[in-house]
Amino acid sequence: MSEASGETACEGLAGARLRVAVEAPRHTSIAAPLDYTCGHALLPGTLVRVPLGAREVAGVVWEPADSAGPGQDESAGELVAPADLRAVRAVLDAMPALDPRWRAMVDFAASYYQRGLGELALAVLPPQLRQIDNGQLARRVKAATSAATAAFGEAPARPPLALNANQVAALEAFFADTRRPALLHGVTGSGKTEVYLHAAARALAQGGQVLVLVPEINLTPQLEARFAERFPQHLLASLHSALTPAQRLRHWLLAHLGRAQLVLGTRLAVFASMPRLALIVVDEEHDASFKQQEGARYSARDLAVWRAQQLGIPVLLGSATPSLETWRRVQQGRYRRLVLGSRIGEGELPRVRMVDMRQLPRAGSAQGAAPGAADDAPLAPALLGAVRERLERGEQSLLLLNRRGYAPVLHCPACGWKSDCPHCSAWRVFHKLDRTLRCHHCGLAERVPRACPECGNLDISPIGRGTEKLVEQLGAVLPGARIARIDADTTRGAGELVRQLAAVHDGEVDILVGTQILAKGHDFRRVTLVAAVNPDGALFSADFRAPERLFSLLMQAAGRAGRDAARASRSEMWIQTTVPAHPLYAALAAHDYEAFARAQLEERAAAGLPPFTHLALVRAEAREAAAAMAFLQAAAAQLAAMAVPQVRAYPPVPPAMARLADVERVQMLLESTSRPALHKALSQWLPGLNALRAAHRGVIRWAVDVDPQAI
Ligand code: ADP
Ligand code: ZN
Ligand code: ZN
Repeated sequence: MSEASGETACEGLAGARLRVAVEAPRHTSIAAPLDYTCGHALLPGTLVRVPLGAREVAGVVWEPADSAGPGQDESAGELVAPADLRAVRAVLDAMPALDPRWRAMVDFAASYYQRGLGELALAVLPPQLRQIDNGQLARRVKAATSAATAAFGEAPARPPLALNANQVAALEAFFADTRRPALLHGVTGSGKTEVYLHAAARALAQGGQVLVLVPEINLTPQLEARFAERFPQHLLASLHSALTPAQRLRHWLLAHLGRAQLVLGTRLAVFASMPRLALIVVDEEHDASFKQQEGARYSARDLAVWRAQQLGIPVLLGSATPSLETWRRVQQGRYRRLVLGSRIGEGELPRVRMVDMRQLPRAGSAQGAAPGAADDAPLAPALLGAVRERLERGEQSLLLLNRRGYAPVLHCPACGWKSDCPHCSAWRVFHKLDRTLRCHHCGLAERVPRACPECGNLDISPIGRGTEKLVEQLGAVLPGARIARIDADTTRGAGELVRQLAAVHDGEVDILVGTQILAKGHDFRRVTLVAAVNPDGALFSADFRAPERLFSLLMQAAGRAGRDAARASRSEMWIQTTVPAHPLYAALAAHDYEAFARAQLEERAAAGLPPFTHLALVRAEAREAAAAMAFLQAAAAQLAAMAVPQVRAYPPVPPAMARLADVERVQMLLESTSRPALHKALSQWLPGLNALRAAHRGVIRWAVDVDPQAI
């Protein structure tokens, strides 16, 4: 870093003292900002590079440090004399400082999710900002500025659709009371996106910026195209993890500079710096992908609500199947519910049909198979007949099976060997097409053995069924049918998913077999049959959110059928199940989210689960389970000694997936009916936990997950 590169020099002892949120080195934690000096005052929110130990790291000036007393440097907690404070090395002031409200959001998120401030601040900024110098930054800013101007074209906008009465009512109600977050509740195809577009138009007309959060990257192209078409005179920036670092910085800068009026992105976009933010939309607010699963485990949906309330701007949460957290807040009157009744136009919701798999003959080959789990027949006869009808009419069928590969496990009937993963508590999945056994958790892939590795038996056999096998079976009974498999294995290459979906849209496919990738967002005009081939597992899962996820997946999948009004009347959703009378399926058949939510909330209340209680998990990982366990037991003893009221701590236990990639995991659950009490306990306890870590060398890492998705 030199003056020549455009850095603003910062040497000089007589200068101002600053508090800087610094990027923490891996696996360390620096909770609070550190003190540095600079020859001249720097605006809070300015990006800097500072020395930290022997290295130089990125940081953000958080606040001026006004006292003349001893300061806090990287020796964490130890105070140093003012004269010993180190100077900021470089100042990146070629872009405007991050504004106080952005910093307040990061402050809030760091304390709520119990992470270091600097760690979070730097993690949510584009990675390139940590690497480039001020001269490079100046060039990027200039490029972003001129690109924005060049993008203003003369392409007339696609005119907005005239809203129907439900949509008008929802939009008016939305803007009539912006103090409370609003849930826009409507099934797929009920016109939610059109309401987003109209709401956005209003915010844009007043010169505001609009942030639209979407769950997954493969949903973005369609939504992005609709926004781009509707608002060609406005610049749209997208922010998601599939961008190159250069693109990500460019788009982020467009938002930060206020050039992009529209920002569309996945969870990380909730942290976009948007000086004129006037509206936030969270599409599919119930989606689990809004919760970050590593590092700072934040919920982008929850932060979006916080951010809107902080700014006093409206926030719209859209869903056909709201999360139970959101639903409960509606019931409490904390959120408003705006309802879009039915589908637009003639589009009817598909008729839901249950296939009782108990009525079918027991599977022949697979040992221990449940009645009806007839993995040697592709589908129940009635369902297969319905698929045939579609084939004859030139319509498409979509078959959902949430298990990729050929079979989830290989088995030796002679000695009982199963294809377990040596590194994880999981089976290795048999992939027939490339003859491998693959662990879907650690990635270990080996050629399928010819014979049982334990006893040499040549007759090892697959148990159960994944998408590969279903395609094979269908091919055998429906010769000539064009069958496409779409799952994580077939969509690895860049653009693969888009290409395969295009083939579906162009009518080059008769039957689609795939995992939940297929259920979301896509607008398949020719699909008139959707079937869940084997969905029962989620009903009996140890994961308390599994039924909620299944219901929303099936509702969403049902929404794939009959989107074309001309075909809607014969569209159907089929469920193969051994519990056809299950209340979840009954609610699904009636398209009755409220009945489902009522039943689930009763169960959650009885079991003391969210949204009736608040949870936090402390996780520890070590090579030896005993080391992780010892650490958490010592931690539990610390917590018990603190005797925090209203917080219940459960003893540390291994999770269902105890070993992953040779790392053993142990976790400890904290529960409270009071969110403040839980947070008080965590923030009092964490410094002790941090200190304890030093005495437990076997522990590789530990982390807190506030509001965990699964326990
Ligand atoms: P959702 O987001 O709830 O799935 P969309 O907004 O995508 O619903 O609407 C579903 C379909 O209906 C889309 O093709 C959309 O263009 C159309 N549509 C939405 N609102 C209207 C309207 N007011 N008049 C005519 N068509 C509409
Ligand atoms: Zn064997
Ligand atoms: Zn593994």
